[in-house]
Amino acid sequence: MAASPDAIVIGAGPNGLSAAIVLARAGRKVVVYEAQSDVGGGCMSEPLTLPGFVHDVCSAVHPMGVASPLFRSLPLGEHGLEWVEPAAMIAHPFDDQPAAIAERSLADTAARLGSDEGAYRRVIGSVVEAWPLLEDAILAPPRIPRHPFAFARFGWEALKSAERLARAFTGIRARGLLAGVAAHGMVPLESPPSGAIALVLGALAHARGWPFPKGGAQQLSNALASYFRSLGGEIVTGRRISNVDELAPARMIVCDLSPRPLLAIAGHTLPDAYRRKLERYRYGMGVFKVDWALAAPIPWRDAAVARAGTVHLGGTLEEIAASERDAWQGRISPRPFTLLAQPSLFDRSRAPEGRHTAWGYCHVPSAATVDMLPAIEGQIERFAPGFRDRVLARHVMSPADFERRNPNLVGGDIAMGVTDLRQMLVRPTLRWYRTPRKGLYICSASTPPGVGVHGMCGYFAAKAALADAE
Ligand SMILES: Cc1cc2nc3c(=O)[nH]c(=O)nc-3n(C[C@H](O)[C@H](O)[C@H](O)COP(=O)(O)OP(=O)(O)OC[C@H]3O[C@@H](n4cnc5c(N)ncnc54)[C@H](O)[C@@H]3O)c2cc1C
Repeated sequence: MAASPDAIVIGAGPNGLSAAIVLARAGRKVVVYEAQSDVGGGCMSEPLTLPGFVHDVCSAVHPMGVASPLFRSLPLGEHGLEWVEPAAMIAHPFDDQPAAIAERSLADTAARLGSDEGAYRRVIGSVVEAWPLLEDAILAPPRIPRHPFAFARFGWEALKSAERLARAFTGIRARGLLAGVAAHGMVPLESPPSGAIALVLGALAHARGWPFPKGGAQQLSNALASYFRSLGGEIVTGRRISNVDELAPARMIVCDLSPRPLLAIAGHTLPDAYRRKLERYRYGMGVFKVDWALAAPIPWRDAAVARAGTVHLGGTLEEIAASERDAWQGRISPRPFTLLAQPSLFDRSRAPEGRHTAWGYCHVPSAATVDMLPAIEGQIERFAPGFRDRVLARHVMSPADFERRNPNLVGGDIAMGVTDLRQMLVRPTLRWYRTPRKGLYICSASTPPGVGVHGMCGYFAAKAALADAE
């Protein structure tokens, strides 16, 4: 173990690596300890199925990565990161109507939504237009925004549920498209902040895109790690920290951990009242995920779906809302809303010549043990008959598999805590990155601005640590 670093970061996920970079750029000597054999946490790629197929184990599509003010300020291109933008961002097929497609262009997207063209421009377009003024406030902890009028206008709409926002639309295609985007938030579509999630992710499709890192999510993590090392930072992989007392003395210990694993390694050093607050932090629904190696592209009934990097499978708003409500209330949905990515259509490095990969998951109740493979494949077959005939191999991950791999994901909750209005603000407590123990910080997605590969939790945690050390 390196002697006397200024700062130790526990965990080399996107936020841990980001915190490490910000600390190293401030001239601190930083060591990162990572339990897994490689860096990346929720942003890794592995050959999960067959040789030559590159699968994203967790994150695949990175609207917040490409929008991240931190990532955009780093020379990640020089360290191997290349974004691949699919021909279209999102496809949302229906049983008996043409798919709704979120193109990179707002105007093209709206124009194909028929009578909802004007409403789409108004609801999503207003956020797209204001995005440059909003970005700093949205990818940050709650604070007085630099552009209060733009933020107030956004906030007024964002406080609505997705179901309420969708009332602006009359057609099932625009309503379904909005619901699919909102359902990324893992909260019921009838309650806020599902509307905020729909507005932010929906606007990002046009403002910044929904790209993949070329070669897989791992390439983004590798670029962060490479840049950190170029600043003199050290990363030790394959080293799980089981007790903060085992660490060399350091002025700052920054934990890329959600509350439960933080309690496991540092709970004994924290005051009772704070510990109880962390114990009360609420984790949400889990996910069941499948990766496929395919002999050929997915045979979508509507060929336009093959233009999109991300596909939302769940039909109407009503059906998607029912599926999300089921997972939220502890029931298994018979037709689960399924999120799918098809990166190899746009990045030939993901699979052997002529072959393809797909990545998909659905939401399930926390820690559910039900095998969702048939239901997920049923949703794909519904919109792409003959899909199963193209499967060469599959790899499945249950909520327990996710938690075993990474203790941050309690019950398979990939968001590291429910993102309802309360836990957007109190994340994981009102201290956010700071703990009552001097020099101990939290930088994971269980702090603001929360879930996603953007590194901004790490950025703000490192800034807090540096401010305290001055
Ligand atoms: C299935 C799935 C799909 C997702 N899809 C997307 C997506 O498409 N787009 C997107 O933007 N986001 C997505 N996410 C969310 C995204 O992955 C997370 O929000 C993000 O990774 C959080 O980063 P983090 O650095 O806070 O934590 P993590 O990524 O969890 O990193 C924490 C790291 O700490 C390590 N660690 C834990 N305990 C210890 C210990 N005791 N000692 C040493 N190391 C330890 C872990 O091994 C891990 O590497 C997805 C997540 C999952 C699981």
